[in-house]
Amino acid sequence: MFCYQCEQTAKGKGCDKVGICGKQPDVAALQDLLIHGVKGMSYLANEAGKKGFKDAQMDKFLFEAVFSTLTNVDFDPARFEILIAKCSEYSTKLSKETGVNSPVDCSCSGKNLGELVAFGEKVGINADENLNEDIRSLRELLIYGLKGLAAYADHAGILGQTDEVIASFMYEGFAATLDDSLGVNELVGLVLKCGEINIRAMELLDAGNTGTYGHPIPTEVPLGAKKGKAILVSGHDLKDLAMLLEQTDGKGINIYTHGEMLPTHGYPELKKYSHFHGHYGTAWQNQVKEFKAFPGAILMTTNCIQKPNESYQPNIFTTGLVGWPGVTHIADKDFTPVIEKALSLPGFDADTEGKKVMVGFARNSVLGVADKIIEAVKGDALKHFFLVGGCDGAKPGRNYYTDFVDQVPQDCVVLTLACGKFRFFDKEMGDIGGIPRLLDVGQCNDAYSAVQIALALANAFDCGVNDLPLSFILSWYEQKAVVILLSLLHLGIKNIKLGPSLPAFISPNVLNVLVENFNIAPISTVEEDMKACLG
Ligand code: SF4
Repeated sequence: MFCYQCEQTAKGKGCDKVGICGKQPDVAALQDLLIHGVKGMSYLANEAGKKGFKDAQMDKFLFEAVFSTLTNVDFDPARFEILIAKCSEYSTKLSKETGVNSPVDCSCSGKNLGELVAFGEKVGINADENLNEDIRSLRELLIYGLKGLAAYADHAGILGQTDEVIASFMYEGFAATLDDSLGVNELVGLVLKCGEINIRAMELLDAGNTGTYGHPIPTEVPLGAKKGKAILVSGHDLKDLAMLLEQTDGKGINIYTHGEMLPTHGYPELKKYSHFHGHYGTAWQNQVKEFKAFPGAILMTTNCIQKPNESYQPNIFTTGLVGWPGVTHIADKDFTPVIEKALSLPGFDADTEGKKVMVGFARNSVLGVADKIIEAVKGDALKHFFLVGGCDGAKPGRNYYTDFVDQVPQDCVVLTLACGKFRFFDKEMGDIGGIPRLLDVGQCNDAYSAVQIALALANAFDCGVNDLPLSFILSWYEQKAVVILLSLLHLGIKNIKLGPSLPAFISPNVLNVLVENFNIAPISTVEEDMKACLG
């Protein structure tokens, strides 16, 4: 196996024996085969699209198949076998439709699991040993951007928000990774276009979330527990959470969020449930320790699952695209098994006191007090904004983000989003004239909201985003972060500080292109970066 798509990749180079994430070589090969098949299918879909062919079900399949290969989503070989077969069926159908053959052999019909794994081992990232390293780097960057885009398109589609332009670009993008005539410039163009299309996907997701559950409002979330039966929900999917809240209403079970689900407490249509109690634990990489101590059932939606410890394996469930071999999967959204499990477990035996944190500072709340913010900036009471956001992870170098926020001067505000916030989310930072100094914009899925806040401020000050007193201090881990970064680059945002380490799949020359055009830089020391940001 060889995989270097995420930040925790082995030795900063690539996982080649087993994934640090727990991905086994057979699943790595099946994911490689699925992506190989998606490239062939995309080539054919692109050709079919030129003749006006459309298939909304195929687009949905594309999002689900590609999202399944993101880090920490699906570790179940059986599920990949099904996706590969379906991809192969779509390719056959498209070939008939267009009269064109796929440029790659992606036919998998009649192959058993072992044969599929053997096939996958031949079509991975390094299949072509002679490929120029910059072309390989840009193709992989494009593929990881497309993976992140698929995730957001899938989330938006679940809430009924779609736009043909997204699938159409994904077909174009995957097909481009097979095109040997494309050089560095063309691939850089496609990578930035991926960022552009992702803004549309995130806009749709924002419309789905706020249209269905209301605009988040500032909300205090308890970190302590309430006596009684309990279910913990992790991941990102608001609809799964909403359905669970509805199905548990009146059953005497309290619902807690974990990781990226924290900001859901701010949505009016979710917070209306009295048994939606609070937040438990921190970010995804701490789940084994935290889940072991949780006295109820656990539901994993979307990504971020790690190998379950045997102590809680019988209590954890997956839904949507998440999968772990041996873990009960709820495919039909009837959460009765989760509810029954929670009722059979002890739950919390007493109320426990805990801190409280504030969520709900998405674009509507922040821009609702735009006048106050503009006045504070003009009056010099508020000197600088730092967007400290992105993914969390296990590496010790991520303490940088905690230290950075600790050292943010008193006359500055920190905007945050995604699970990187757990490095400082319960820090009491006070306010500047009533504006909290720590504003939680939401999940990584809410990056659109942060972008809208930045654009609105730029508009109010009649300048570009790069001219605002605003610095981006980002942490990345997986492919959703990759596509968000591409969106920021598409918007022309410069001087981003990225850490804790740079992606292993970026070649030195590709890095130079990013540095020359966007002045993107790896994080250094807190003191140096703070000084650079504050000029
Ligand atoms: S997803 Fe990350 S940790 Fe998992 S195998 Fe790939 S590079 Fe390694």
